[in-house]
Amino acid sequence: MKMVVGVMVLGQLLTRLLLAAHVGDRLAAARRILRDVPLIDGHNDLPWNIRKFLKNQLRDFKFEDLRDAHPWARSAWSHTDLRRLKDGMVAAQFWSAYVPCSSQYLDSVQLALEQIDLIRRLVNKHPQNMVLVTTAAGIEIAHKEGRLASLIGVEGGHAVGNSLAVLRMLYELGARYLTLTHTCNTPWADCSTVDEPGQVPHIGGLSNFGKSVVLEMNRLGMMVDLSHVSVPTMLDAMHASRAPVIFSHSSAHALCNSSRNVPDHALRFLARNGGIVMVSFYPHFISCGEKSTLQDVAAHINHIRKVAGIDHIGIGAGYDGINLTPVGLEDVSKYPDLFAELLARGWSEKDVQKLAGLNLIRVFKAVEQVRDRMAGEGIEPLEEEIPRDDVIGRLYCRYPITPSTIP
Ligand SMILES: [Zn+2]
Repeated sequence: MKMVVGVMVLGQLLTRLLLAAHVGDRLAAARRILRDVPLIDGHNDLPWNIRKFLKNQLRDFKFEDLRDAHPWARSAWSHTDLRRLKDGMVAAQFWSAYVPCSSQYLDSVQLALEQIDLIRRLVNKHPQNMVLVTTAAGIEIAHKEGRLASLIGVEGGHAVGNSLAVLRMLYELGARYLTLTHTCNTPWADCSTVDEPGQVPHIGGLSNFGKSVVLEMNRLGMMVDLSHVSVPTMLDAMHASRAPVIFSHSSAHALCNSSRNVPDHALRFLARNGGIVMVSFYPHFISCGEKSTLQDVAAHINHIRKVAGIDHIGIGAGYDGINLTPVGLEDVSKYPDLFAELLARGWSEKDVQKLAGLNLIRVFKAVEQVRDRMAGEGIEPLEEEIPRDDVIGRLYCRYPITPSTIP
């Protein structure tokens, strides 16, 4: 009897060792894939944390390693530094120039400019490790050079202050996507909260001006980001857009019915549009609760793959904008573990390459091609009438506010 138990224990031990060896092999395979193709993440909120913690002053910011730095080390919102980005083999990061809804009708344009300035200063301060990138080809070049391709995404349509002129200037400053809303409606687009029980739509999707914003983004070569928008806004934007769209940080509604996630019918429409969902890791969007795991994130990725197809998935973890992370995906160093898990689930190397970065590069190149085609068609910038010349009058004219709300 003793011997039987002994053999059983030995057997279990051997199985465990073999499994561990397999896991190690798969992690090595994942790392090899990420050396060949760039790993691109669609959304990181570090710039907002720098605003919160350091008032945008980079003087004492030790981005190389924040694991022992105050207040980063103890903050639940901090998951990113250069050392961990390297460990996680991240090749390209869209840094979010996030603009809170409380600034709508007030200083949202100023905030967007300040956050873009911050991202540009952060990149310029680390020329060995980072490079500002504004093209799809730039991502591939930076990956070969071993520098983190740093791209700018503006989060919140109110950042353009209802002005196509501002939108064009954000593009000039390097912004390559605009998230059409954050958690507030703009005068031209509904956000995802209107889809929640008891809420009523403001417009019911995109207004005519909202469609003009999308077309102007197509003309510029700026990606339309539909994370945070309502489902009718998603559908309107995909109808209006001549180019593929992105969801920079959203997950699957079928697995967690958060209004921030993408329902299956929109996923099928997205496949026809050619765009991608970059999967968010936020537990509230993954398991609809405070706890989730790397395996739960893999399940969302598999679901989106099943419904939309392998060409329409990417990664948009949302690090530094979330204060909870899945077990196994605690910070930006953990991405290779996720790819190892997908290899364990039978994903081919080619599939993993698409998820990691090839899909986003394809979308970005398609957006650039639409820009070139529209230029070839002689399509000019959309000209809007500027309501008034004096500043206060202009604000007053454009927005339904009383003078007392103007600071
Ligand atoms: Zn967000």
